Amino acid sequence: MKTIIIDGRAIANEIREELSHTTSDLIAKNIIPRMAVLHIGEDPASLSYTKSIKKISSKLNIEVDIYMIEETTNDVHVIKEIKRLNDDKKIHGILIQEPIPSSFNREDILLSISPFKDIDCMNPINLGRVMRGEFPFAPSTPLGVLKVLEQENIDVEEKHVVIVGRSTIVGKPLANLLLIKGKGGNATVTVCHSKTRNLPFFTKMADVVVVAVGRPKLIKGDMLQQGAVVIDVGINDVIDKDGKHRLVGDVDFDSVIGIASYVTPVPGGVGPVTTLMLLSNLITAATRKV
Ligand code: NAD
Repeated sequence: MKTIIIDGRAIANEIREELSHTTSDLIAKNIIPRMAVLHIGEDPASLSYTKSIKKISSKLNIEVDIYMIEETTNDVHVIKEIKRLNDDKKIHGILIQEPIPSSFNREDILLSISPFKDIDCMNPINLGRVMRGEFPFAPSTPLGVLKVLEQENIDVEEKHVVIVGRSTIVGKPLANLLLIKGKGGNATVTVCHSKTRNLPFFTKMADVVVVAVGRPKLIKGDMLQQGAVVIDVGINDVIDKDGKHRLVGDVDFDSVIGIASYVTPVPGGVGPVTTLMLLSNLITAATRKV
């Protein structure tokens, strides 16, 4: 079987091109899409994600304001800052970068984001709306997965999708989106996780496997049926034989070639599309369609 390697960067470029028309229209009306990104503490991985958001945003004339909040402050200070951003008419979207240090009340912080500016669907109110299939914003990573499937004309209707990973930002919202009655949905969904017994039993039954775990090489070719579509959300920093850092996914990439019909690489698969979906949510917020 020929395995098609999905080019996430090409998909991201196409989305960027589409979004650039909307941003131009907004700018012509004197609306500059602007988001605020808050970091509590200095997690290197999330700082690097913000750097890439800023780089892509600049190509779309989107403004990104970065707020660095010291880990020694408290919830009251962070919530006050978020409320100020909620009231600021120039700010259309707010992103709180994870991880939020454990000394902070994560739930109270996320609940304080205005649901209309919650561009990564972090507020539990918006997450609940995703479950009901009525939402202004869905989280960018599950949206990225759906966009990759859509761009490759992979219809999940009547198909069995097995999601490996049940996190609140990827696995669970993705399961809800795939269950929606309508375009991009109507799938039969199984969610596997760390307590799933006999993972290959489930992955072998899947037409589409989506993996979001954070374990290199968890999914191997012999865990799939011929022709399965494999979407790898995982991002793992590993040190190779030469002592060099390398990013790999959760899929043992070489072993699925010749078995999977499609596979997303890491890097260059779901990741670049996710960032564009976040910007797409920001533009939706700026056009006030929500
Ligand atoms: P998480 O740690 O919150 O959740 C991991 C999930 O994996 C848990 O639900 C757990 O039950 C499950 N799990 C752990 N071990 C397992 C096993 N052996 N078998 C089956 N399931 C197992 O992680 P997350 O935030 O959902 O992120 C998952 C991965 O996706 C990470 O590598 C992360 O870096 C990556 N990620 C990528 C993007 C992107 O845009 N590409 C976005 C977000 C997260």
